[in-house]
Amino acid sequence: MHIQAVTLFPEMFAAITGYGVTGRALKQGLWRFGTVNPRQFADNKLGYIDDRPFGGGPGMIMMAPPLHAAIDQAKQAAGGAAHVIYLSPQGRPLTHSRAAELAQTDNLILLCGRYEGIDERLLQHSVDEEIGIGDFVVSGGELPAMMLMDAVLRLVPGVLGDMQSAEQDSFSDGLLDCPHYTRPLEFQGMGVPEVLRSGHHGLIAQWRLKQSLSRTLARRPDLLAGRTLIPQEARLLAEIEQEQQAFPS
Ligand code: SAM
Repeated sequence: MHIQAVTLFPEMFAAITGYGVTGRALKQGLWRFGTVNPRQFADNKLGYIDDRPFGGGPGMIMMAPPLHAAIDQAKQAAGGAAHVIYLSPQGRPLTHSRAAELAQTDNLILLCGRYEGIDERLLQHSVDEEIGIGDFVVSGGELPAMMLMDAVLRLVPGVLGDMQSAEQDSFSDGLLDCPHYTRPLEFQGMGVPEVLRSGHHGLIAQWRLKQSLSRTLARRPDLLAGRTLIPQEARLLAEIEQEQQAFPS
């Protein structure tokens, strides 16, 4: 997979290229990364690529021509074709299933906005998709781009040492992950659920599924609303609801 960022701050991407599983996978050649700085296409000596908004108002707007040239250069580096994503608070919220689809893509170009945003005509002309990372606004598209990259790359085969760990993560099967415990056996007067120390794989798997269902019901009932439950899930969910009626919190 080849990912390129169109960004005024290429150095920021050291956070994802130099550290953790994504950094290791880059060294292993499991993905490639490049940046294009639109400043190199500025039409002025000072390198400005933003200007005041037509109609007035606060802030500056990134101009279309230098961004267009930067995306073109990234497309050429990608061999011609690439999926162009603009990170935007107005985009469709990033989900696990969209990240899994993007993990199948060969060439991604991530357009990172700054200031008040980008000239609308560039978005209409050159962007295939807008993705947001939440209903809030941050100062630039670089951190959202890195979040998208991390979410996508951990689903690329080989990036995580153990692919099973991604499969057990929250959202991958439509539920939240179960709680986890490790040593010490006791912390601040709290122990570890007995079943996890039983060595009984069947009981442990059932406990974990019940915990996942219970957490999802409590924290993200919207995830359960559209789910077709398998018989074991339906039985465990009925158990959870009975327990909640018997011992309301
Ligand atoms: N005026 C814009 C609006 O309200 O939609 C926000 C501009 S924001 C200060 C500057 C840049 O940060 C945006 O162009 C976008 O690339 C990025 N950005 C901000 N919040 C984001 C979010 N929630 N998801 C993805 N990108 C975001």
